[in-house]
Amino acid sequence: MLATGLGGTESGYGGTLAGCGPLLSNVAPVARPLRLVLFDHVRAQGSTTRAEMGRALGVSAASVSAVTSDLIADGFLRESPVADLDNPRIGRGRPPVELQVAAEAHYVIGMKLGDLRHTAVLSDFAGRRIAEASMPTRPNRKCAAILIAEARALMHKLLAAQGMASRDISCVGVGMAGMVDFATGSVAWSPMLDAPSTALRGQFETAFGVPTWLDNDANLLTLAELWFGGGRSKSDFAVVTIEHGVGMGLVLFNQLYRGARGVGMELGHTKVQLDGALCRCGKRGCLEAYVADYALAREAATALDQHESLSESPLALLEALFAEARGGNEAALSIFRRAGRYLALGLSNVAQLFDPEVIILSGGRMQYDYLYAREVLSEMQAMTLTGARPPARVEIHSWGDLVWAQGAVALALGALTEQLLGHAATRGSAA
Ligand SMILES: [Zn+2]
Repeated sequence: MLATGLGGTESGYGGTLAGCGPLLSNVAPVARPLRLVLFDHVRAQGSTTRAEMGRALGVSAASVSAVTSDLIADGFLRESPVADLDNPRIGRGRPPVELQVAAEAHYVIGMKLGDLRHTAVLSDFAGRRIAEASMPTRPNRKCAAILIAEARALMHKLLAAQGMASRDISCVGVGMAGMVDFATGSVAWSPMLDAPSTALRGQFETAFGVPTWLDNDANLLTLAELWFGGGRSKSDFAVVTIEHGVGMGLVLFNQLYRGARGVGMELGHTKVQLDGALCRCGKRGCLEAYVADYALAREAATALDQHESLSESPLALLEALFAEARGGNEAALSIFRRAGRYLALGLSNVAQLFDPEVIILSGGRMQYDYLYAREVLSEMQAMTLTGARPPARVEIHSWGDLVWAQGAVALALGALTEQLLGHAATRGSAA
């Protein structure tokens, strides 16, 4: 269990499971170094004995003993007495000890840069949240230099409150909306930037003074589900999020799938209408242009006759539309119904293309429940050809605002661990 948990409202968090990280790492088709496999297993379990680890992973006692000795000597794991001596799985013989991650060996920061607010979480090497911070920002496109300066200020705010400095941090994971290439650290397009950036990650590294990884924010959300949420023990699942845009992440073999060039999984920009509504990406007919909050706000301005307020606060307009719909306003209801049908279409396409075990609708705020109503989900299932098999399940996870930064922690921990214990880590090999 995380020492500080993820807060009471974050129902996406994985209940009573101890530890953090994917639980099925041995299903991956690519062989991983035994050091990395054993370390990840200990972190995922929270604590475990050598004997249990050998049984769970099918590794000989001699190999477990040799490799864990190295991991302890290198300061990545440590021993502690078994807390539960009545546990029948603990045999006789010398006093049993459990292995745990040496939590204070490394600290990482996960950061989500957002339209309205930047958030950050400080975590130890075991994945336990130490502290968090956030700061408001202006909802405008901006140049990379301003974004980086804001991120740096947030990092220093987070660290200063703990009496720490950037030299105490081993790496930073940063996520933002847009077409972000994890492997190269470049951004081909982002609603938060006024121009593409080929070297954004390097600029972050210079500003932070710490190795940095950059990813798409939907991938952060997917990593949050994979490391801390309901996806930990699932091999194949999709995560869809609807907030300012429509994002998607995909997990195959209990690992995040990123595609070849970091421009895949853009569910929000799949086309659902020829010559359709104008999307903020500049193209027409994107799913996002019918479902995202800015698209609903555009229609709300007409329905509520509040054109002048559109530029002021799309979010306030959307709240007003939601209140009208709750009160039975037919025009407001029809806007949500139409958006819901487009969402059903998008989810059906995801199910049809990838056949995931479950599609998780996830995000920081999932309050527009008209979009996730039973009719929408049954329409999605009616659209999907599944033969005699049951259709993909849809789960709705509503976390708090820190879910994105928590996913960025997973990004940082995964990349750091790969670098320390993986195949000597060419950058971008995995996270
Ligand atoms: Zn688009």
